[in-house]
Amino acid sequence: MRYLSTQGAYEANLIEVIGRGLAPDGRLYVPERLPSFDFKKIQGESLAEIAIELLEPFFQGSPLEVGLEEICKDAFNFPVPLEELNKGKLSVLELFHGPTAAFKDVGARFLASVMERSLEELGLKGEKPLTILVATSGDTGGAVAAAFHGRSGMRVIVLFPDGQVSPRQKHQLTCWTGNVSSYEVNGSFDQCQALLKSAFNDVNLREKHQLSAANSINLGRLLPQTVYHAAASIWHWRQYGTKVNYIVPTGNLGNGLACIWARAMGMPIQDIILSTNSNRVISDFLSTGDWQPRSSIQTLASAMDVGDPSNMERLQHLIPDFPDLRAAIEAYPVSDEKIIKQLAKDHIQRDKIWCPHTATGFSVYDELPRNRQENEAWIVAATAHPAKFDHIVEEAIGAKVPVPLALKALLKLPTSYGKLEPDITHFSAILDG
Ligand SMILES: *Cc1c(COP(=O)(O)O)cnc(C)c1O
Repeated sequence: MRYLSTQGAYEANLIEVIGRGLAPDGRLYVPERLPSFDFKKIQGESLAEIAIELLEPFFQGSPLEVGLEEICKDAFNFPVPLEELNKGKLSVLELFHGPTAAFKDVGARFLASVMERSLEELGLKGEKPLTILVATSGDTGGAVAAAFHGRSGMRVIVLFPDGQVSPRQKHQLTCWTGNVSSYEVNGSFDQCQALLKSAFNDVNLREKHQLSAANSINLGRLLPQTVYHAAASIWHWRQYGTKVNYIVPTGNLGNGLACIWARAMGMPIQDIILSTNSNRVISDFLSTGDWQPRSSIQTLASAMDVGDPSNMERLQHLIPDFPDLRAAIEAYPVSDEKIIKQLAKDHIQRDKIWCPHTATGFSVYDELPRNRQENEAWIVAATAHPAKFDHIVEEAIGAKVPVPLALKALLKLPTSYGKLEPDITHFSAILDG
């Protein structure tokens, strides 16, 4: 498989695409063409087995191809259950059973595994470690830290903004030792990102430290996300013989795009609805045809506070014509007020506790016309465990949120982190160690 930037320039192979993150023209990488499957011929049952079949074409011709099976077993090492809420009609795909309790664990673990193997392939292991930089507003940094922790040949530096992550998220960012270190930046998330950009744009720094990025636009995070959408649709087909519709809580459009790619690859998926918080750039676009990126606004579903979703570029590359795009997806915004109401309502009516992001998905489901609820089958993606956002959820439902074991264990670890001023001189001193 060859990869191109969305502009059609800059051809690259899989190792280059994953090592670079962004194409040299500043655009995102996409596969030259999405592979096409007859889903009925897919044999695998478990997530790892389906991953091996589904991702094989993306690895074809790469030296990484022989390692694909190992990579999939390494990355998909926790359960992603599809739980039925209303038999044959409504299920929830629980993506939050990984080490940091959000779906980002899947992409981060896959990326870490691929990068480790790439170093072996390129014969770079044992030399100076690769430095992986990540700026985070919450979930990404923890997932990346957990995924890369203890792997050889790579060190991770996490930057997070002072006062803008939840206490539990902060714990997940700062409880690592060894090859992971984290820094609280005296500034905003945007300033954290700007710091990374300056480091990457500094040729000396980049070469001296072999800088690489693990942010969410890396194709190595997107590919494995297609797998759970595909797998759940296949599980549903095997049980009921029908296609399924999806509702995917959306911010930067990574998870939503992965679902759209899974459908484009031939999986038994019918309608795809993106649920957003009050950052309504996607739904506005679908109703007006006018793409108007804007600054993000803060909401209770903070991991979806994105005003300029990067992956729209990949979606428009897949479906260039607006009428086709409008026919291919729907998107509906959900206000903070509705998020609170949905959390409280589902705690009682469905006996379920969601995180605020997942609540946007169920709010959209509950507002669908009756005939769509009754005549079609739906999967809502649950993107994080509510215990990560306990301060919001417990107030909304008036009860305690039980903490999953993996998170409990992590919250017991001691923490330490450095402080960083948002300037490149200070940052390069830290890189120098
Ligand atoms: C990152 C995140 C999202 C948004 O996913 P995108 O791929 O950015 O659209 C939704 N929910 C949670 C819990 C997240 O961490």
